[in-house]
Amino acid sequence: MSSAERIPSTPLVTGRRARILVVDDQPTNILTLHRLFEDEHDMFMATGGEQALAFCRRTPPDLVLLDVVMPEPGGLAVCRALAADPATRDIPVIFVTGVDDPDGEAACWDAGGVDFITKPFNARTVSHRVRAHLTLKQQADLLRRLAWVDGLTGIANRRHFDDCLQDEWSRCARLGSPLSLVSFDIDHFKRFNDSKGHLAGDDALREVAEAAAACVSRPGDLVARTGGEEFAALLSHVDAHGAAIVAEHIRQAVAELAIAHPDSDLGRISVSVGVATVVPVPGGEPEVLLAAADRALYSAKAAGRNCVRVEPVAGEPALAP
Ligand code: GH3
Ligand code: MG
Ligand code: MG
Repeated sequence: MSSAERIPSTPLVTGRRARILVVDDQPTNILTLHRLFEDEHDMFMATGGEQALAFCRRTPPDLVLLDVVMPEPGGLAVCRALAADPATRDIPVIFVTGVDDPDGEAACWDAGGVDFITKPFNARTVSHRVRAHLTLKQQADLLRRLAWVDGLTGIANRRHFDDCLQDEWSRCARLGSPLSLVSFDIDHFKRFNDSKGHLAGDDALREVAEAAAACVSRPGDLVARTGGEEFAALLSHVDAHGAAIVAEHIRQAVAELAIAHPDSDLGRISVSVGVATVVPVPGGEPEVLLAAADRALYSAKAAGRNCVRVEPVAGEPALAP
């Protein structure tokens, strides 16, 4: 490949280098594509379908260039498997195929490919196609991100929280595993805004979000801003005891921010925290968990604020913290 055949690069939308996985059982084919893109993108390679799937699940690339004809599982099966898994379904797949008959092309589309390239390929055309699909992918990533991130604090928003609650509810119901919800709300925040101004209020919201997120670090956990000065931590496979510990960490971390609040008993910003835990039943509704955490939060407010309260879920035996 001569350097004249390389396409001059302008940065893609995110500014970072894209990650491309090339899958082919013939190392020479991988090498050709590798050389074409190595200056511009981070290139990875797999010589078999299983290896490609494992890579995509572990570290999803931005694009896969996938050979159709390989020993089992072939390219079509790999593409179908990627499309069936929520963790990999957003990765665009471009098929690299040696055959250009209509049935072969139809099979590529049906498997979920976004495009295909016929071997032997024209380097310029491949570069332009890859560039177009990477741009689309990165724009889609940006939109997905905007849709689930809270603009003020940068943590998950209500919509993402609702989606995750539904997913985690189903997952825990399947596994017979506990699901805990920690709801927390800044104490006397109206007074804080009134005395220190709305901009200081926004800064405090950002700090509280960051401190709470730092208390919750397991991969399946989520901290979200669920309302104005209301937050929630969703903890999968965590029982009432574990959830109460996380809740107390959050309460403490917020108090330790030491954000002066002239109009509160503590003199600093604090949160009241409600905890509820349930082992979801298949077909049940997550609303019972939300309602119990809300009741617990209300009890914490009534008990004088800056404290944690645990409530049983309606219809469930009380879970000792
Ligand atoms: P409590 O201890 O009972 O929770 O009292 P509170 O004053 O925190 O509760 P209330 O629900 O009466 O008031 C919530 C306040 O949160 C009202 C509003 O000024 C403030 N708030 C909500 N969203 C935002 C925001 O995005 N930025 C700022 N600065 N303030 C907000
Ligand atoms: Mg409040
Ligand atoms: Mg409130």
